[in-house]
Amino acid sequence: MAKTRVIYWFRTDLRLHDSPALKAALDLNPAAFWPIFTWDPHYVYRARGGLNRWQFLLDCQNDLSKSMSKLNPKLKLFVLREAPQSLFPKLFKAWEVTHLVFEKDTDSYGRERDQVVMEAAKKAGVVVIVKSGRTLWDSDEVVKKNGGEPTMSMAALRAAGGKVGKIPRLIPSPQRLPDPGEMPVDFEQDQPDPAPDLNASRRTEKDTGYKSIAGPSGDFAIETMEELGFPSATTPHRGGESIALERLDKIIQDTKYTATFEKPNTSPAQFDPPATSFLSPFLHFGALSVREFYWRVQDVVDAYGKGASSPPTSLTGQLLFRDMYFAAQAARGAVFHQTANNPSCRFIPWHLPSKTDPSTGIVTGEYHVDSDTAEAWFQRWKHGVTGFPWIDALMRQLKQDGWIHHLGRHSVACFLTRGGCYVDWERGAEVFEEWLLDHEPACNAGNWQWLSCTAFFAQFFRCYSPVAFGRKWDKEGALIRKYVPELKDLDAKYIYEPWKAPLPDLKKAGVRIKGDGLSDKEDRTYPKPMFDFNERRQICLDAMKKAYDVGLHGADKQVLDGSWKEL
Ligand code: FAD
Repeated sequence: MAKTRVIYWFRTDLRLHDSPALKAALDLNPAAFWPIFTWDPHYVYRARGGLNRWQFLLDCQNDLSKSMSKLNPKLKLFVLREAPQSLFPKLFKAWEVTHLVFEKDTDSYGRERDQVVMEAAKKAGVVVIVKSGRTLWDSDEVVKKNGGEPTMSMAALRAAGGKVGKIPRLIPSPQRLPDPGEMPVDFEQDQPDPAPDLNASRRTEKDTGYKSIAGPSGDFAIETMEELGFPSATTPHRGGESIALERLDKIIQDTKYTATFEKPNTSPAQFDPPATSFLSPFLHFGALSVREFYWRVQDVVDAYGKGASSPPTSLTGQLLFRDMYFAAQAARGAVFHQTANNPSCRFIPWHLPSKTDPSTGIVTGEYHVDSDTAEAWFQRWKHGVTGFPWIDALMRQLKQDGWIHHLGRHSVACFLTRGGCYVDWERGAEVFEEWLLDHEPACNAGNWQWLSCTAFFAQFFRCYSPVAFGRKWDKEGALIRKYVPELKDLDAKYIYEPWKAPLPDLKKAGVRIKGDGLSDKEDRTYPKPMFDFNERRQICLDAMKKAYDVGLHGADKQVLDGSWKEL
């Protein structure tokens, strides 16, 4: 029998522990084994990914590579700088590959890409093995058991998941790894496209030094931030399987925390350490297995007995939410990330330009503002200068560190959409896509839909106050003092509403309330609130009520042809 020559393609699974796909590859007992990561132009050039996430990815790759080298010094993570769709047909031939193995990816781009690669493998006579391991249950199987429909509630997910079967238990990390084969790259190589501007100077093939798909030194090394043409990241958070497992161990050792965890009782204002697990970025890159996380927690819960929390608020409940969004996305495909054409997504006519009375030039309309104002609000939200310190602290934490607590995400998402600005959730999701370390297409879109009350959740009358909600958790305003340093010396009485502080208090704290925070930023100035929140809340509530009464969704004909304007 011909010897097996296996490429293991790392993508969403940068770990050695509990990987069904890696196990399947090693079970083939390969004569040659190449663990590779392909340089995918989709992520490098098209997807929005901030510097912090890039650093986290490189951390995860480096840690994995080191762990593999420990098991076999001839191995490391081999990074190939070419699009997988064009690279694989050449590799199959040049390396005489017999098998290609990878973890299943149900993201819409992932599916498209993998389809092309699988067709190329079929043509080349290469056997492809795909295993689910990114979620508790295989999302496609969950959809099947849910009658082909997206899982729009926790109950639907749990019922369908139960029918799929028991969540699999840990697969131990391999103890040794086979040798790689030769790695000739003397075939025609596609050079990367010209690079995008990613908060950095534009990168070119010359800047990055890609003379070869094997990298500047020809040794398939992992890129550095410098090589990518990026300035340094700003996040203090570092990635990698080793850190993830240490973090999980520490959480599990605290039996009471693990067993009695209730999400609504964790503070969004706590940042050092965060009040929740902070494992989402590791799950995103697959540096931590979600099933390992689930079972380690569930075992503690089972042993704890009375007083333990349960889904949806418990830690395992959080992981079930993750699966719920993954399965909803698996059912809907690419339209899951938008309102248009999405039958699950309620249509809300976000910040429509108001009608201008031609005779007076006065802008009328009960709840809409003109698009310039809405755009200005969006920019001020994005850059953390709304004049509401709670919102600004969270948005600056997000930009600087790449992570904010779930209820912090609730606050800023509600504020941008139905609880303040009345701006489309898709605009907010784009900002999160760029800045989150843990950006997960399914979870990001799904949670934005939830918060904007376009899907999953409908209680639009429950709205977060940008003043009272933060104060409830953090009377002294520690989060604000850290991320909005202009206000760091302000008395706690005014820290959530600096515009109410008397002049002597402002003077004492060295703050001036002035400008819009964007155009005329001076040291120690902080903007006035960009609107009267109570007024806006009422306006948004009325508008949401109307939209619910009309009851259109993203796949309605009226929405698609624009005739909703006349409704
Ligand atoms: P923990 O509370 O410790 O929970 C453990 C794990 O459960 C998390 O690591 C995460 O994988 C999962 N989880 C928890 N809550 C949710 C949830 N509501 N939905 C899905 N999974 C959940 N999470 C992402 O992983 N990626 C995203 O892109 C993302 N975008 C979001 C956008 C908005 C507007 C909102 C409101 C939430 C978003 N979330 C996203 C969900 C949630 O905020 C984060 O998963 C969580 O804050 C991560 O912190 P943690 O690891 O400490 O969570």
